[in-house]
Amino acid sequence: MLTNDYYDLIVIGGGTAGTLCAIAAARSGLKTAVIERNSWLGGMACGSGLTEMNAAGFQSRPLYHGLEEEIFNQLIESGHGEYHFAVPMSSNKEVKVDRLRYDPEILKVILEEKAVSAGVDIFYDSELTEAEEREDCCRITVRNLYATWNMEASYLADASGNANLIRTLGGDTIKTPEEKQLTSTLMFRISGVDIQKLNEFLNSGQLPSVIREGLSREVLKGKILALTPIPGSRDVSVNATRAQGDYEDSRSCSRSVIQARSQILPILEFIKEQIPGAEEATLSSIAPFFGVRDGRRIHGAYKLTLDDLENMTRFEDSVACGCYPMDIHDPVTNTVIWKVLPGVYHIPYRSLLPVGFHRTLVIGKCLAADKEAFAAIRVMPIMMNVGESAGYLFRLAKERKCCMDELNAEEIREYLDTRYLNN
Ligand SMILES: Cc1cc2nc3c(=O)[nH]c(=O)nc-3n(C[C@H](O)[C@H](O)[C@H](O)COP(=O)(O)OP(=O)(O)OC[C@H]3O[C@@H](n4cnc5c(N)ncnc54)[C@H](O)[C@@H]3O)c2cc1C
Repeated sequence: MLTNDYYDLIVIGGGTAGTLCAIAAARSGLKTAVIERNSWLGGMACGSGLTEMNAAGFQSRPLYHGLEEEIFNQLIESGHGEYHFAVPMSSNKEVKVDRLRYDPEILKVILEEKAVSAGVDIFYDSELTEAEEREDCCRITVRNLYATWNMEASYLADASGNANLIRTLGGDTIKTPEEKQLTSTLMFRISGVDIQKLNEFLNSGQLPSVIREGLSREVLKGKILALTPIPGSRDVSVNATRAQGDYEDSRSCSRSVIQARSQILPILEFIKEQIPGAEEATLSSIAPFFGVRDGRRIHGAYKLTLDDLENMTRFEDSVACGCYPMDIHDPVTNTVIWKVLPGVYHIPYRSLLPVGFHRTLVIGKCLAADKEAFAAIRVMPIMMNVGESAGYLFRLAKERKCCMDELNAEEIREYLDTRYLNN
């Protein structure tokens, strides 16, 4: 099948970064399409069992704004989101972050409604297979189970979470060696929990001793048992399984999924025995998406470093900010290594610019960063922020009839400041 649709912008990947980019671009008047492998928007945020936007604020001051604020408010006002201040991490109770808890099924609906009403053309169950950047436009090939077709656009956004577009375009990317890749997790959801009792237990500070017990019995494979009540329900999401493998190698990745899934029923029995409020809990779902924390990153015009985050470098071309600590799920020690950062840090536009390309931006967690910075900035509120800014900047480039690498810091700042506050 040949469909030569022409768009201003095609976004590859409809995760949090990709969806916000597409909505921002479409609302700004760009003809925009999203190519998404799954049949929902929201990527990891809606399909991997996650239910918490980490570090959405710093020391009680919300960092979210623009579309992110619109979405968070909608979740909260409908009873499907709750904002919590300074919540301790289950793997280290000294590390505390503000979090927005949400129901991922409702988030799916909200993202889709916003994208559709903005006029975004969504191509679900569709996958990028070929891509080419030409001097004046870009061309991609997409397929679903039944057909293959071509599409053209002025600009492309790689929001695949794994630099899939850049690799398809023939660009170089960085992959963490297998033995150093962050541990992956298959999350699951339990129902029928007495949330009040569970919250009392979580606030009592007794969780670390339960985790020690789980480790000593070898039910838990790592020092993490995060139990997150899902607003508006009696369900709780559980982040506890651990599996190591090469996520790009089908055999190895499948082994990891099988390994992680085999941990779920023993962990559920352990939770029922040990966690007040969960005595009658049942398994309601296992995430359809394997939670791969690691991912390829690009070579960008600027590589964001942990030093930048520690020094809170104020880039002239800042497109997003965040405050989540460095959080390395270490495959060797099977612990989580934390480094709390001193304040609000920034992400420069140049980290979104892939070396060797002109009409493409890389948004989402595969932007140019070192391994340590990546371990901090990869959380969803930051990715949403990056995506939204990128959406506006595609519009700026279209107005200026220029390539993405021709925008300068001053005009980026000015343009973003007039659209939404970039703290
Ligand atoms: C186990 C785990 C726990 C985490 N916990 C938290 C947490 O508690 N709080 C938090 O804020 N963050 C958490 N994170 C981090 C966060 O979920 C991700 O880093 C973030 O969602 C990345 O967003 P993204 O938009 O870049 O990518 P994704 O959400 O991964 O979206 C990428 C999208 O691109 C699509 N795609 C990829 N390739 C193609 C292709 N070729 N064609 C078409 N579509 C394609 C995918 O299907 C996907 O929908 C966690 C991550 C993991 C794995």
